Amino acid sequence: MMNAIAPIILYKLTPYFSLLKENLSTNPRRGRPFKIVMVFRFRVKESPAGCRKDKYMLTAYKNKAVNRILEGQITLEDPPEILWVELTSNCNLRCVMCPNSILLNKEGHYIEPDLFKRAMDQAAEFDPFVALFLGGESLMHKDVGELLSYSKKAGLSKVHLATNATLMDEAKAQMILDSGIDLLTFSFDGYDKQTYERARVGAKFEKTVANIERFLKMKASSGKDKPWTKMYSLDLDMKGEETFRPFLESFFGLGLNEYGVEQPGTFRGLFNDTKEFIPKLPGSEYFPCIWLWKSLAIHSSGRVVPCCADFDGELVLGDLREESILEIWNNDRVRAMRADMLEKQVAKYEICNHRCDSIWYETLDENGVPLEHSKERPRRINPQGKLIASQVIR
Ligand code: SF4
Repeated sequence: MMNAIAPIILYKLTPYFSLLKENLSTNPRRGRPFKIVMVFRFRVKESPAGCRKDKYMLTAYKNKAVNRILEGQITLEDPPEILWVELTSNCNLRCVMCPNSILLNKEGHYIEPDLFKRAMDQAAEFDPFVALFLGGESLMHKDVGELLSYSKKAGLSKVHLATNATLMDEAKAQMILDSGIDLLTFSFDGYDKQTYERARVGAKFEKTVANIERFLKMKASSGKDKPWTKMYSLDLDMKGEETFRPFLESFFGLGLNEYGVEQPGTFRGLFNDTKEFIPKLPGSEYFPCIWLWKSLAIHSSGRVVPCCADFDGELVLGDLREESILEIWNNDRVRAMRADMLEKQVAKYEICNHRCDSIWYETLDENGVPLEHSKERPRRINPQGKLIASQVIR
């Protein structure tokens, strides 16, 4: 179907390109070229996602992946915007909402430093947002300090580490500060001893809080601006942001930069019927998974999947031991999956179709785009959406 759409789009855009060219070359009023800011509107007879038939679509969404989907692109000129790189798939906790706690057949890996460095060198050529975690606790990797530092030495400007902070002793805190990474998230799901230890099975509330406080104090006394620090919590009981606020505010004087509270997803259906927490149930409106147009995730084994939801490596699209990141980004398997997403052929991808939050939505806007990717995304989307609160503290 996409082959049929491309000529229609080009045909519809041709008059606008001609107009633009004409206006740039001949300016009757000022005698010199002037800049024209144009908004392209075009009509397609059949929408790529099969859900926006005969609607005018405005390609002006802030989210580049949404625009690429609306244009029906399968081969992408731009590189991935986000890369997840898993340092290890092992974890020291068994959190109630984490697939790592129930994927018992999962084989634990630690990424080979050489493979990691190759990934960083390749990524530095297009400088995506790099998240150094996926299904495990990154601080368990014995070479974590060397790996974090290498990511910055390679020239990446947006390096993010998320940690459960349970292993962040003084030496590891210093190592993180010395590495120069840009963003550090403390994954802390709870607001008191009871809620935290129920969710984060195996962790001790007082110890984790002490680790975070020590890091914030060390950062303050070092005089360093980086990393930007964020406390992140899933609202497992759906009690609302206000329940978290007193706990989160106790860190404000220590220099915490930001906090975020979100409703948990179903973790691709694994936790749809959980009694442990209230997951956000997917809606019935379809939109292609934006992550296929936005990201790649590299498992610690070297296998590459499209997204951070594929903890277990079921959607393997390539292998970094055999191909480069950019080769995988537009290889046959990725392009076929993008085409299937545009055609709503998701039944063959069991984990996508199994109620993954990333293709089923509550509400679409007038162009058939999910409200949470819309141009005027509401600051708070609750309970239909996912984001409950996110606030920069200073
Ligand atoms: S639909 Fe879900 S599991 Fe499938 S590629 Fe997208 S985020 Fe990953």
